[in-house]
Amino acid sequence: MIKIHNFINGKFIASDKNLEDINPANGEKIAYIPNSNRKDVDLAVQAADSARESWSALSIGERAFWLGKIADALEIRSEEIASLESLDTGKPISLARAVDASRSVANFRFFGEFAKDFQQENFEMDDATNHVIFKPVGIAGLITPWNLPLYLLSWKIAPAIVMGNTVIAKPSELTPLTANLLAEVIHEVGLPKGVVNIVHGLGSDVGQAIVEHPKINLISFTGGTTTGKKVAEIAAPMFKKLSLELGGKNATIVLDDADIEATIPGVARAGFLNQGQVCLCGSRIFVSKKIWDDFVPKFVNYVKNMKIGDPSSDDSELGALVSFAHRDKVESYIHLAQREGGEILCGGKSPGLDAPFDKGAFLEPTIVSGLSHLSRTATEEIFGPVVTIHPFESDKEAIEMANCTDYGLAGSVWTGDSERGKRVAEKIETGMVWVNTWLHRDLRVPFGGIKNSGVGREGGRWSLGFFSEAINICVKNS
Ligand code: NAD
Repeated sequence: MIKIHNFINGKFIASDKNLEDINPANGEKIAYIPNSNRKDVDLAVQAADSARESWSALSIGERAFWLGKIADALEIRSEEIASLESLDTGKPISLARAVDASRSVANFRFFGEFAKDFQQENFEMDDATNHVIFKPVGIAGLITPWNLPLYLLSWKIAPAIVMGNTVIAKPSELTPLTANLLAEVIHEVGLPKGVVNIVHGLGSDVGQAIVEHPKINLISFTGGTTTGKKVAEIAAPMFKKLSLELGGKNATIVLDDADIEATIPGVARAGFLNQGQVCLCGSRIFVSKKIWDDFVPKFVNYVKNMKIGDPSSDDSELGALVSFAHRDKVESYIHLAQREGGEILCGGKSPGLDAPFDKGAFLEPTIVSGLSHLSRTATEEIFGPVVTIHPFESDKEAIEMANCTDYGLAGSVWTGDSERGKRVAEKIETGMVWVNTWLHRDLRVPFGGIKNSGVGREGGRWSLGFFSEAINICVKNS
């Protein structure tokens, strides 16, 4: 059994109250994590506060050097990151290797390199010069979800510290293992103590204490829209800098000129990667009526053949959902879809795996047709392996249908004509749209949602801007 401690002021601190961490693929206990409280957050804030002055006094280049050291040390442990992530979340090991482990390393490496070019800017006037400098905000509170645990945590920690902030990070209580590995790496490379502090525990205790803490000046939150609302209600009147990366109900639009055979794997990947537990997943699929009869049976057949099973096996394309409670929630949407008049084209039940996975939180990839695009199933975030599929007559109708939810995170358009795809993409009300691809990420570009999918942008210079205060110094010419 793994025993995880908080990481505060460069030390691992045991807790007398603990929470259990469960492997969702077989229901077994894998770790104990601290059930921390406000006092632990206070301790972490004291450490972050003490480290601020000396850390912010370093140049960006000096801080970037530490990010490079962390990236190198994480890379050596890539296989371990992938195994722990797969164990903790139930995701296939191949996905944990290709996405979670590699991106966690890349986040530190990227921000370390990218920040070196993020310089002060000067604006000349006839009689004065403006010098815009970027100062650290102070202490950053970073709160992350369970679907891409270290990937999302490193996406926040790397830009926060390179800009000179010190941080208190709270990973999801469901998936603490790789945050602990990061603490080990930070300890091993000797990052100055107090720069990164990791406090484990429940959102309602640790998360809320971070958001409420008067000495924490910035909150970067990734998670559900309902939680994001609570975070905003507390942080906004305290005038904290706030970034909210929230839920999605993203549209996948297949136009009549799409190459069906080439498109199906992309649409299936967008719908079901990580068991549909990616905020960017395309869970509403709109298909032109002109190709509907050809597309739908082939798509159903493709999805039926996706291999679901032991997350540690290289062959598995789909693993378990993150928890039994989450599987119950996803199943409740399958029942809702049936009550709303939907037809289950495939999936809808547990896959009936052999022991020990018969005790796991598995669910077959599920396609539902026959529902209105305005139904609850087709407009509320399910965050699991369930997609709805709807026909449309024209590009205009597809755009209207895509824009009919309160969410606005991402989407994708599939077409034989990339200019037409771009025209449709521009009319979709989301922060990001892909054409003939999905989850194709360049870390320099803005990432974030509109409507109920969030506030603010992270990624590239948007992250560096968010994790700093732009200060103008106007010097009159003598
Ligand atoms: P969640 O909102 O339940 O939890 C997210 C984090 O917030 C966890 O660490 C949790 O402990 C903490 N938390 C819970 N209550 C809190 C409170 N009152 N105050 C402060 N912190 C609190 O989300 P989840 O179930 O872990 O993750 C799934 C959700 O995350 C989905 O809605 C998904 O779309 C979203 N998500 C969004 C993005 C994005 O970039 N937009 C990325 C990944 C996941």
